[in-house]
Amino acid sequence: MSELVTKYVTCPKCSQQTSTNILVSGNTAENTALRKMIFDETPFRWKCKKCGFSTRYQHPFLYSDPAHGFMIYYIPKVERQNVSDAKLEAEYPDMADVRKRIVPEINAMKEKIVLFESGINDMAVELTKLAVSEIVSKETGHNVYAGYFTDMNTEKNSISFQFFVGGERRSYIQSTRLEVYRRSLDIVKKNFSNVEKQAGFLNIGREWAKDSLDKYKTKATK
Ligand SMILES: [Zn+2]
Repeated sequence: MSELVTKYVTCPKCSQQTSTNILVSGNTAENTALRKMIFDETPFRWKCKKCGFSTRYQHPFLYSDPAHGFMIYYIPKVERQNVSDAKLEAEYPDMADVRKRIVPEINAMKEKIVLFESGINDMAVELTKLAVSEIVSKETGHNVYAGYFTDMNTEKNSISFQFFVGGERRSYIQSTRLEVYRRSLDIVKKNFSNVEKQAGFLNIGREWAKDSLDKYKTKATK
């Protein structure tokens, strides 16, 4: 399922157009180097054949890990909460049992890979992250621009995140007790287990966490 497409790219430095092969999807069962390639971001680097100028080249990428039963569809800056892909679903009818996510950025793709490989519920992580990010925002007096799961430690009873805060996007590590994750997991299982059964790829990020928490709170006060 590794798919290469040929594109013609105009170099931003020398303005010459050259053809380039871009890896747009991959499967960890067929390509054992794929995970490392994503973490190194090699499919998103481009080098001009004419002048050697290199730059980042953002393009959609579909990552599939059949052993852990998940697919991550990276679509740069995607804002939609759900993306259906009829062609893909016709091609892989057993996809119903696979967790499918769309993510707007490469770091979010890496985060999902780590979570799903470890059997950690990403919805519960997003709810936990939202709660922790609000604490970070209060403590630092700055907006939190992004946050990613870094680790879960049962011995230390903690779950940790790396946030990027303020205009300078300063890195800020914050942990919380595992109970916060467990409570979030309980909320997810009781209220949002049907979400997983939807067709298509779901965008489970900060927006999802905010909406879901609002829905949960409305329901809880009824
Ligand atoms: Zn060039």
